[in-house]
Amino acid sequence: MEEHPDGDWVVQRLSGQSSTKAYRCPGCEQLVTPGTPHVVAWPFDTPAGESHRRHWHSPCWAARDRRGPARRG
Ligand SMILES: [Zn+2]
Repeated sequence: MEEHPDGDWVVQRLSGQSSTKAYRCPGCEQLVTPGTPHVVAWPFDTPAGESHRRHWHSPCWAARDRRGPARRG
């Protein structure tokens, strides 16, 4: 679990070897292609259902606090 300005997030870092499908990274709107090591995160206060999970490129997750998608200002 990690603390961020917008709350606590459950974070898992995946090697990529177990991923078999592409995901849309919320940080850059590009695909996280199968086999790419990446980050899966969801808000701590939501159920850990698949629909809440977001797959991020590792650098995009690291930069999220600075230029996340749903941020105002
Ligand atoms: Zn990205």
